[in-house]
Amino acid sequence: MNVLVINCGSSSLKYQLINSESEAVLAKGLCERIGMDGARLNHTPAGGEKVVIEHPMPDHTVAVQLVINALTDANYGVVKSLDEIDAVGHRIVHGGEKFASSVVINEEVIKAIEECNDLAPLHNPANLIGIRACQKIMENVPMVAVFDTAFHQTMPEKAYMYGLPYEYYEKYKIRRYGFHGTSHDFVSARAAEILGKKREDLKIIVCHLGNGASISAVKNGKCVDTSMGLTPLEGLIMGTRCGDIDPAIVEFIANKENLSVSEVNTIMNKKSGVEGMSKVSSDFRDLSKAMDEGNALAKMALEAYTYRVAKYIGSYVAAMNGVDVIAFTAGIGENDGRVRAMTGEYLDYLGCGIDPEKNAVRGEEIIISRPGDKVTVMVVPTNEELAIARQTVALI
Ligand code: AMP
Repeated sequence: MNVLVINCGSSSLKYQLINSESEAVLAKGLCERIGMDGARLNHTPAGGEKVVIEHPMPDHTVAVQLVINALTDANYGVVKSLDEIDAVGHRIVHGGEKFASSVVINEEVIKAIEECNDLAPLHNPANLIGIRACQKIMENVPMVAVFDTAFHQTMPEKAYMYGLPYEYYEKYKIRRYGFHGTSHDFVSARAAEILGKKREDLKIIVCHLGNGASISAVKNGKCVDTSMGLTPLEGLIMGTRCGDIDPAIVEFIANKENLSVSEVNTIMNKKSGVEGMSKVSSDFRDLSKAMDEGNALAKMALEAYTYRVAKYIGSYVAAMNGVDVIAFTAGIGENDGRVRAMTGEYLDYLGCGIDPEKNAVRGEEIIISRPGDKVTVMVVPTNEELAIARQTVALI
């Protein structure tokens, strides 16, 4: 079975066509600048060269049609016709409290996703546009919605409630939801599999450190806490997001800089994190290089970043009354040995540490703690597209 995995943004559309039997990626690509001048599609068939197709894309329906054309093209396509696309899996950012697992998409599901738009105004409407566009072009192909928030729906009330008046939860469903759920689920399951154990028997902390970053505590197969909240701004210091701060800072900056709350919000999302702290970059390769060249702010940002990761690990050890496995994943977690090593310096009290030789490996499944350590520290590359394809197949 071939599954088309779609991740639709307001002006972009990322896709992968995955064969569910071999789990091979047949082709992947990205439509950029949808609805703008200069729209283009980057399409890469497995084992082939990247093809850049410049073509107007007034809306997402045109973009989906161009993706189908590329996938079925005589020269760089990977299937003969639309008939060889058996299902579509859509990444949906916010499922609110309505979705604790993936679902087959129908009109009722679309309505329920729409009702979550308030909670993710930048993402959910774009995700829905992607669904509608695919429905127009692939009328009879079954589609599944896979939610970023679903895996975290097992969090207990004590972990998801904020210390705010209860009426805001009643009226607006203000609570912690968590994100990157597909990745936390995939990585914790894979970590257990690599160790030859059942996830149900383990306490696992997953550190998803990418441009956006979050940590989760997975106890006996279920998420019991995670660092992101109502929105993906809470928790760790990230590439450009500030993570946890004193909420009173918002009003303070607004007054001092004569900005609106919404402008401060933009600063906290787009101009903060390690980029804002270091004045260097949100990319950890640049940050590490600057630190090596003696840049004090880059060093400070990296130290603050890893200190925050270590503090969250500590709090989740407390939440689960112990930990068996700590797994690093995503762009930074998989590739940045320095971030893992700096975090590892705080793990002494758990009876574990990081082996420098094993830690030098990049982007591979590997145990990086030392033989005999009480806690296993490992790197487990995430694969959200594969997880979406698997869930799509399971549901149809
Ligand atoms: P993601 O959001 O998971 O795609 O992660 C993207 C981030 O991973 C980039 O912004 C970089 O900071 C980081 N990254 C990617 N490759 C490397 C690398 N080789 N070393 C350090 N950081 C990396």
